[in-house]
Amino acid sequence: MTDSREHAIVVGGSLAGLLTARVLTSHFDQVTLIERDRYPDSADFRAGIPQSRHLHALWTKGLEIIEDLFPGIEAELAAAGAPELGIPRDFLWLTSAGWRRRFDITKMLTFSRPLLDWTIRKRLLSELTVLTHHEVIGLLPDGKDVTGVLVREAGTRGPGEPLAANLVVDATGRTSKAPDWLAELGYPAPKETAVDPLLGYTSRYYAIPEGYDPGWRALYLQADAPATRRTGGLFPQEGGRWICSLSGAGRDYAPTDEQGFLDYAKGLRSPVLYDAIRTAEPLTPITSFRRTANHRRHYERFRTWPDGFVIVGDAVCAFNPIYGQGMSVAALQAVLLDESLAGDPHGMTRRFQRGAKRRGSGAWLVATGEDFRYAETTGSKIKPYNRIINRYVARVVAAANVDEQACAALLDVLALKAGPTSLFNPSVLRRVLLNHAPQPPGPADLLPTPLPSLR
Ligand SMILES: Cc1cc2nc3c(=O)[nH]c(=O)nc-3n(C[C@H](O)[C@H](O)[C@H](O)COP(=O)(O)OP(=O)(O)OC[C@H]3O[C@@H](n4cnc5c(N)ncnc54)[C@H](O)[C@@H]3O)c2cc1C
Repeated sequence: MTDSREHAIVVGGSLAGLLTARVLTSHFDQVTLIERDRYPDSADFRAGIPQSRHLHALWTKGLEIIEDLFPGIEAELAAAGAPELGIPRDFLWLTSAGWRRRFDITKMLTFSRPLLDWTIRKRLLSELTVLTHHEVIGLLPDGKDVTGVLVREAGTRGPGEPLAANLVVDATGRTSKAPDWLAELGYPAPKETAVDPLLGYTSRYYAIPEGYDPGWRALYLQADAPATRRTGGLFPQEGGRWICSLSGAGRDYAPTDEQGFLDYAKGLRSPVLYDAIRTAEPLTPITSFRRTANHRRHYERFRTWPDGFVIVGDAVCAFNPIYGQGMSVAALQAVLLDESLAGDPHGMTRRFQRGAKRRGSGAWLVATGEDFRYAETTGSKIKPYNRIINRYVARVVAAANVDEQACAALLDVLALKAGPTSLFNPSVLRRVLLNHAPQPPGPADLLPTPLPSLR
């Protein structure tokens, strides 16, 4: 990439695109964001991010980065009604090794995905040139480098208009056409890795019944792979609502009809979620989403990489969403791009692409490791080291249910504050050896009251 910093283009204005655009405003005179959808004028759903109708949890690292990029945004989300939950204090959290004791370790703001994007857009869009209802259909080449994009109004045909830029960022998510665009410049197809547990989400909003106080504020009832495949999440969000997302691996999808949805909830490992929603008022229809495979495109392996072009977010690496990592990895990549742009411009885009892979490696290990437990999981084969890590992580989960330090260490990894290797630190190892057997939860003050029975 040359050192010229006149204009940057971000393609795709969902979370990865918005965070990237924010970073680019510090490095370029002008930033243009091109988004195929028209943005709603409120915290509403839009077609381009269909997954936003489903439970989205933002782990600590992601929220910290977003707060750094948009100071005061946490307070803004809270003011818009996003509840703050103690983790796991306010949760009934059923893990593969039983109930987790309700230690008070960290916090999470719980909000709808549309509220997060809307709050960011309100802060950011005035700093950018924004082309909504436009789509990018190709790259402008200069030899094997990229000097801009071809863009046209969404829903129209034709070759598109050229728009020049010193840097183009592809943030178009799982449906990214970057492999085709790069092929037109003479690059080979990227190698791809997919690990697909054939998981589907089915979700619905409910009004939280007035005065409802069962002794918990959120439910997270996980599957116990491979024996059970169903997970249920019930999280409070702004507007006094619960979002209820039921997910099933191995094609064990929750139905989208009223009775089928309730029956599926009844079939979770504990009836506590079913008991909560069966009399609650539904606020939305039931919707489902099945594009959830772990999917990585190995752009980092390219021998040469175009100047003037990088790829971020789900377009590079998308995760089984059940572990809640996609937005936080996109945030980590935005920080990496900021650092990369502050460094040597020579070979910057290639270094970035390699670094982007590394920023998602821990999340990939966590997500795929668990998914390999299902016999139905398709794609790459499990590696021997995954088996060993899986066995150890199962023990960490059991220890984290009863031991506060082990729980804190595991939460750090899930929240992307620490890499999975931190679970092998001697201090954690010791706690795991002492507490690895699944145990009933501890003292009465840490128990959910009344203690839900398990199936
Ligand atoms: C069911 C589900 C639940 C999830 N839950 C969580 C969670 O709990 N926590 C978490 O961290 N992550 C979660 N994720 C992942 C999260 O949704 C994504 O990681 C996040 O949205 C970042 O994705 P992205 O911005 O790269 O792409 P996307 O969100 O897919 O956005 C791509 C954008 O590009 C636009 N676009 C596409 N093509 C073009 C084009 N040619 N020209 C212009 N614009 C274009 C689209 O309209 C869209 O706005 C979940 C995902 C799913 C599927």
